[in-house]
Amino acid sequence: MSTRPHPVAGEDYPRTYQQFLEWFADEPACRRYLARCRWADGFECAQCGGKAEPWTTGRGYLHCRQCGSQVSVTAGTIFERTRMPLRTWFAAIWFVTSQKDGASALGLKRVLGLGSYQTAWTWLHKLRHAMVRPGRDQLCGRIEVDETYVGGSDLGGKRGRGSERKKIVVIAVEVHSPKGFGRVRMRRIPDVSGDSLVPFVCNVVEKGSEILTDGWSGYNKLSKCGYRHERVVFSDTGDPAHVSMPGVHRIAALLKRWLLSTHQGSVSGKHLDYYLDEYTFRFNRRTSRSRGMLFYRLIEQAVMTAPLPYRQIVQRKHNI
Ligand SMILES: [Zn+2]
Repeated sequence: MSTRPHPVAGEDYPRTYQQFLEWFADEPACRRYLARCRWADGFECAQCGGKAEPWTTGRGYLHCRQCGSQVSVTAGTIFERTRMPLRTWFAAIWFVTSQKDGASALGLKRVLGLGSYQTAWTWLHKLRHAMVRPGRDQLCGRIEVDETYVGGSDLGGKRGRGSERKKIVVIAVEVHSPKGFGRVRMRRIPDVSGDSLVPFVCNVVEKGSEILTDGWSGYNKLSKCGYRHERVVFSDTGDPAHVSMPGVHRIAALLKRWLLSTHQGSVSGKHLDYYLDEYTFRFNRRTSRSRGMLFYRLIEQAVMTAPLPYRQIVQRKHNI
């Protein structure tokens, strides 16, 4: 399974909303599109490995010409066993990706006329789950890493008193020279110890990269883990306005603003991971010229992402 490096507007994904309506007029059209995204290099039967073009049964299953087994294009994806039409799912994905800041559950419920808030909420979580590309690339080059606190009051200062009720999020961002940012990764962590911080870096950053942190001891082991670790320690004047990691600081500010505006700050700690996934997806594709491209990427990832039952969503503790 491969992802297309340069999908083309009007060929791989709809250029406009009008085109979106024309392309996905019925269920078979949606299924064909999913099949094309799922088997970008051509169909391959999961049972026998046969690569002959399958035929489609009256009920929309793909029938392998070689072994006769039948598969649903949604099996093993986030759409598995959905009782709603794929057209409604596609509309949800278009709605979520075509808006710069995404959608709230209430907004999605209204625009799609979904019966319940819970359905809209569950769908958004499934889509956020699909926003984390399986086997995604690691960050590389020059990377700032720092923690930020989300929720609660902003009093108390960094790693200081008053931060107990806030959620700790560690952020890594590629910094470009002389200015600008590349991609980000972020994760909620239980505390700021090395046991929480270092595995995050090892997970999301390529070995050999240069990691910039402040003087916090939690980062001490990075150089032993194959990174070039540079501590950026400013004078100890205690100036509260001083920002040692401007990239992370900027992204943290954008993240908090997004949580407050699109979601009215109503994100509970337990589900924060999902919102971090969505924010990461949006941030890393902020330069995409077409919103249709985001639609394409999300569909592409949704068919590569294993189903996520409601039960699992409400129990989720950690991403990755
Ligand atoms: Zn087969």
